[in-house]
Amino acid sequence: MALIVQKYGGTSVGTPERIRNCARRILETQRAGNRVVAVVSAMSGVTDGLIKLAKEVSPDHDPAEREMDVLLATGEQTTIALTAMAINDLGGKAVSLTGAQAGIATDTVHTKARIVNITPKAVQQMLNEGNIVMLAGFQGQTADGRITTLGRGGSDLTAIAMAAAIKADLCQIYTDVDGVYTCDPRVVPTATKIEEISYDEMLEMASSGSKVMQSRSVEFAKKFGVRFEVRNSMNNNPGTLVKEENKGMESVVVRGVSIERNQAKVTIDDVPDRPGVSAAIFGAISDANIMVDMIVQNVSTDGLTDISFTLSGADLPKAEKALTAVVPKLGEKVALRTHKGVAKLSVVGIGMRSHSGVAAKMFGALSVAGINIQMISTSEIKVAVTVDEAEIEKAARAVHTAFGLDEKK
Ligand code: ADP
Ligand code: ASP
Ligand code: MG
Repeated sequence: MALIVQKYGGTSVGTPERIRNCARRILETQRAGNRVVAVVSAMSGVTDGLIKLAKEVSPDHDPAEREMDVLLATGEQTTIALTAMAINDLGGKAVSLTGAQAGIATDTVHTKARIVNITPKAVQQMLNEGNIVMLAGFQGQTADGRITTLGRGGSDLTAIAMAAAIKADLCQIYTDVDGVYTCDPRVVPTATKIEEISYDEMLEMASSGSKVMQSRSVEFAKKFGVRFEVRNSMNNNPGTLVKEENKGMESVVVRGVSIERNQAKVTIDDVPDRPGVSAAIFGAISDANIMVDMIVQNVSTDGLTDISFTLSGADLPKAEKALTAVVPKLGEKVALRTHKGVAKLSVVGIGMRSHSGVAAKMFGALSVAGINIQMISTSEIKVAVTVDEAEIEKAARAVHTAFGLDEKK
């Protein structure tokens, strides 16, 4: 008898009929002789709808994050109850648990809390009594009893963390595509499904825009060695196995291509080239709780230089506000320029560690496609560039083809 954690995402539970489909699959898994904990997301669109409602009732101030979490956690609470009802209606025996009831303890960082530990007593007891446990994704509870949520896409994390806590034999992430592809199949129709991918590659892809998995959940899986499969909730096709790397994986130079839209670029021109300037700029950005991505500083001429960086487009107004306060203090000529409509394209693969020429091949493909590169950054297993957002799909297809990732006909 195996212990299995399954997770069903928002589209997979998006309608009553789809909830019944998941209920059937969960029940079949149990009837095949397994014990099952099933994590569900909110029905698709529900979390976004709740965020919109919050903005409508509180148009002048950001709603208190404590209240946002109380609100957002209701999406998943709805689906655990509905799925448990559907399973019971099909003749099974299911009970639902919220994150708090399931012993998921988090820190106090509302809306993006981290799991600090899990005490799965209630889960184990309910399994021992022969139940299917329906567990609410995306949520936990602080030590003093406040409801928290785990960041967008956080039901993936609930599943992986619970699988680690109860030492599950298998963790399956069910979604609306057959697995992890060499690029988002909605952007590159010739993308192919990846059979096996290392944690590091999945992590780099997830954090550079491949939102098929929440990046924090992959980080957790790597840390605790939780192997997991990404599969389609609408069919029985084999999915993608995410696991520790092995020698064979290194023979593939580029495993996948990621895109991230809605980025912005900030350039500060003619800043004096002296100690403390970057510290002042990025100190102000960090004080405003903004994450920056790529940073480029030019070689200085006549004691002046330019600094550019990218950030999420959603954070641009906050960044402009924070910088308007510091920029004038840096020098007379210093000027601030901002651009929206930037997107990031990344190629990822652990094979890059032992192969050269990846960046050159990527730049060559973009050049042939007539696409201008704005900024470049590299890591051991990734090369990333920013381009005009209007050209991102064309850029992704060109690079995908150049690395031989297209489906073989
Ligand atoms: P869920 O609601 O099941 O969590 P998500 O919408 O979070 O589903 O993730 C699935 C989606 O991720 C797919 O529909 C697909 O468009 C997108 N996606 C982005 N990059 C990839 C990729 N490399 N492979 C597969 N899907 C991807
Ligand atoms: N419902 C949450 C979201 O939309 C969590 C999840 O779906 O994983 O982000
Ligand atoms: Mg998701």
